[in-house]
Amino acid sequence: MRDNFGRNIDYIRLSLTDLCQLRCGYCVPDENVSCLKAHEQLTYDEIKEIVAVFSTLGVKKVKLTGGEPLLYPKIMSLIQDLKKLTGIEEVTLTTNGIKLPETMADLVKAGLDSVNISLDTLNPVHYAEITRVGRLEDALKGVTAAVESQIKKVKVNTVLLPSLTEADLRSLVNLAKDTRANVSFIEKMPMGNQVATSALSEAEIKHLLTQHYGEVTPFLQPLGNGPARYYEVEGFKGKVGFISAMSRHFCETCNRMRVTSDGFLKTCLAFSHGVNLKQAISDGCLEAKILEALQEKPKRHLFGQEVENKELKSMIQIGG
Ligand code: SAM
Repeated sequence: MRDNFGRNIDYIRLSLTDLCQLRCGYCVPDENVSCLKAHEQLTYDEIKEIVAVFSTLGVKKVKLTGGEPLLYPKIMSLIQDLKKLTGIEEVTLTTNGIKLPETMADLVKAGLDSVNISLDTLNPVHYAEITRVGRLEDALKGVTAAVESQIKKVKVNTVLLPSLTEADLRSLVNLAKDTRANVSFIEKMPMGNQVATSALSEAEIKHLLTQHYGEVTPFLQPLGNGPARYYEVEGFKGKVGFISAMSRHFCETCNRMRVTSDGFLKTCLAFSHGVNLKQAISDGCLEAKILEALQEKPKRHLFGQEVENKELKSMIQIGG
């Protein structure tokens, strides 16, 4: 499935719910953001139908997101069903990790190919501040469950926040040193009316890695679904990656579209336009609507600029 700029779209991020146990300020700026009503959400069958049509159009990879996708009641059977679809090669999931201790073994059995755990600090006080309600120990049990499981790949995603200290950064990097988890640092995107904040940059982190751990070499094989650039560090079990959407935007290689839990197909995180797939299903024109949206996919994100159709939703409502 190629867009107007020749980009091959083979990856969708599918949000299963807009509910989450955590309230991270950059993801849920307004703690009282209202949740979707049950009838507004995609049904199980609608989700399957949407992914089936995407697969016939060339989508090979699906990331389950949210909200918190492990709060979706039928997560295991959904993974099994999506994996059965011809053309779907990988079903992966991004989670805050809290429910991994009790779900990890079943996720592997269901056929999940890899898991990303979002974790912005290893400092318990900072964790409680960032998430507003979370306990670091719960997330860490999730990381342990993932790295000790049979899942093929484990990744830890850290949003670079101004509060991240060098000591904290080193603890996170040590996860890649001591475990098989790859650790990626993600620049915060100024969703809606948020302002861009400055934090440790990719260059600063690479410098710190060299100072403290030794040689850092680019790892050129693909590791995930998208734009992260990875490095190998001598003596590390995992890799260290960067997703620098703001300082080095990578839109020319964008391979993705997003479906929110109410079935809205978004062609770019930064813009609000797209099509309502729930409506398209009831109108019997799902494939046509997906192809219509594809033609509208913008050339690049333009975060931080005043643009028409600026996305004002928060990440919890979209899925990241
Ligand atoms: N609850 C799941 C999790 O924690 O991974 C899935 C949903 S969460 C919205 C998906 C990802 O979006 C997380 O890694 C989160 O850190 C990231 N995210 C949320 N807001 C962001 C922002 N403003 N900039 C960059 N990443 C963001």
